[in-house]
Amino acid sequence: MLAALTALSLLAGQGASEEAQEETVVQVDRERVDASGSDGDGDGIDGEGADASGTGEEEKSSGAGRVWIRHVVTPRERLSQIAARYGVKRDDLVEWNKLDSKRAKLRTGTRLRVLARKTPPPRQEITYVVEDGDTWSSIAIKHRVDYHDLLGVNWPRPKSLEPGLELTVWIDPGRPQTVNLRNGPSPPALPEGLDGALSRGKPARGRLTNGIQLPESDLYDRGHERWLWGSSHTLRNLLQGLGEFRYSSGYEGSIVIGSISRRRGGRFPPHRSHQSGRDVDIRLPLLPGLPTTVAPNADEIDWAASWELVRALVETQEVEVIFLEGPLQRRLYQAALWEGVIAEDLKPIIAWPNRQGNEKALVRHSRGHDGHIHVRFRCGPEEPRCRPRRRRMEPVHIGEPPQVPERAGVAPAEVAALRSADAG
Ligand SMILES: [Zn+2]
Repeated sequence: MLAALTALSLLAGQGASEEAQEETVVQVDRERVDASGSDGDGDGIDGEGADASGTGEEEKSSGAGRVWIRHVVTPRERLSQIAARYGVKRDDLVEWNKLDSKRAKLRTGTRLRVLARKTPPPRQEITYVVEDGDTWSSIAIKHRVDYHDLLGVNWPRPKSLEPGLELTVWIDPGRPQTVNLRNGPSPPALPEGLDGALSRGKPARGRLTNGIQLPESDLYDRGHERWLWGSSHTLRNLLQGLGEFRYSSGYEGSIVIGSISRRRGGRFPPHRSHQSGRDVDIRLPLLPGLPTTVAPNADEIDWAASWELVRALVETQEVEVIFLEGPLQRRLYQAALWEGVIAEDLKPIIAWPNRQGNEKALVRHSRGHDGHIHVRFRCGPEEPRCRPRRRRMEPVHIGEPPQVPERAGVAPAEVAALRSADAG
């Protein structure tokens, strides 16, 4: 973990090595706390955190490996973002700092007390000199920052991006990298006993014959088992997609499978569909270190892992549609670009930012799908009574997953091709 953070800090350029050092110091101190009183590096801490922005200055220690730190708010940081950064709940931040939960608009420079579970290196302000061919989105992607945040800190927006123009960028060397650093375990063979379950009718008016329950697996965690009955075709493709996801992304966090269908299908309130064993709710992966929350918000979701999950499911070629609320599609889209996918390849996958494209893309808006994606698999070849909602599309291919050594870099060669991502 520390090695990874250090590597990231190095990539981030100027000032990175001091930050890496500070991270080390914090870690050392935490170990000292855990060992309750064995000596450690003494008083190094107080002097270290003197410099300000976004720094997790150590204040005092608490039990269970958690430390009280002070976080200095950097431009456009949100409460839930800060909470996720330190692996704590937004509500706790509100309480510790006696904030007004409803109007929690943070001012840059505000100091917050945080009982942190982890202490990533702080965000850093850098100056970027615009080069020929840059666009707002290519600059955002190059630095792995949010497009709207980049615009926000450079407000009022310059008329054009002339080469030589200087822009402010708040980079985040502490952004956790949970995918594409290494491969995970090879996909397991499909388990026995997945045959014979047939989807009938439509997702919102249908049944399941000989339903099969989603088996236990190392690939995922299961929600309530009474609600995890699916068709053979659905379960096979779900397992295959998740196996491929674990392997290709190396993601190690939890993936929770919520509802599929009831044993015989049919009405399944509060869902409108989920009636024919083809609809699967998958909770979006959380950023590492966060306590398990029922309904994560957008800042608590690991969008890079979410993208890799969507990619693996889509590549089974058996996904009919994925529902995700519109505003969250932007996060998914951005994460895909950060992971090296080119914008052109995303058109058939994610409806955002094409306002008319909703009916053509696989990932589409549907209200209520925020903390989870709803994945609908196609009718299988052995299911004559299964009713698809629409015709089969051309197979979708997202291109090769990026090579591991290259992905350490911050600037994919094809950033010039990202103009179509400019949708602000
Ligand atoms: Zn659903």
